[in-house]
Amino acid sequence: MIRFQFQLYWEVEVTGKYYLCRMADKQVMEQVDKGMMLPLMEAFYTIQGEGFHKGTAAYFIRVGGCDVGCHWCDVKESWNAETHPPTAIGDIVEDAVNYSDTIVVTGGEPLTWNMEPLTSALKSKGLQTHIETSGAYPLSGIWDWICLSPKKNKLPVGDIYARADELKVIVYNKHDFRFAEEQATKVSGDCVLYLQPEWSVREKVIPLIVDYVMKNPKWRVSLQTHKYLNIP
Ligand code: SF4
Repeated sequence: MIRFQFQLYWEVEVTGKYYLCRMADKQVMEQVDKGMMLPLMEAFYTIQGEGFHKGTAAYFIRVGGCDVGCHWCDVKESWNAETHPPTAIGDIVEDAVNYSDTIVVTGGEPLTWNMEPLTSALKSKGLQTHIETSGAYPLSGIWDWICLSPKKNKLPVGDIYARADELKVIVYNKHDFRFAEEQATKVSGDCVLYLQPEWSVREKVIPLIVDYVMKNPKWRVSLQTHKYLNIP
């Protein structure tokens, strides 16, 4: 199934280098559909700011495309896949190996696309593969770590609950605690549970989260520490 029409030229920045991409429309769409090319929004080496691996260096691949529609989303520019250049996974991997042993694939919603070719290529280089996903589409790819961040308006599908290593629920208001508990009943006993304040309301919800975690210590607090560090 081909889902997007792409333009013919793109300039994409990958860790400071610029690539001019051009391909015939049909070829591009077929390659994207197979997961051999991905609409790449950005790729960068930084510190993982959130969740279980916070504070550790990693190379991030941000893939465009998401129709989940969270009203508080802080990467809305990722939503429209057509605005991000289809990029060959070979080029993405070739750059990634220069920076880190740990690769975090994020979005957008990366599971919009077939992640098998990208993750196979990363694994063939001996790299650790992590994904940050809402789980709104079926799980594809080979993953060493799955961070599942479910969203109310498009719930996870398939077996991703059982496969998740980390459940990260974003707290925008007090009703999200009930949603978090519902979601926690679906993951495995080994899954690490996090509550993370939505950034724009952090001052209001952090005290609620602190209180909740102290009363319900199976949960941990996750903060977007990269925003406090002023890094990507
Ligand atoms: S799932 Fe993630 S990328 Fe998509 S709208 Fe929600 S926060 Fe934004």
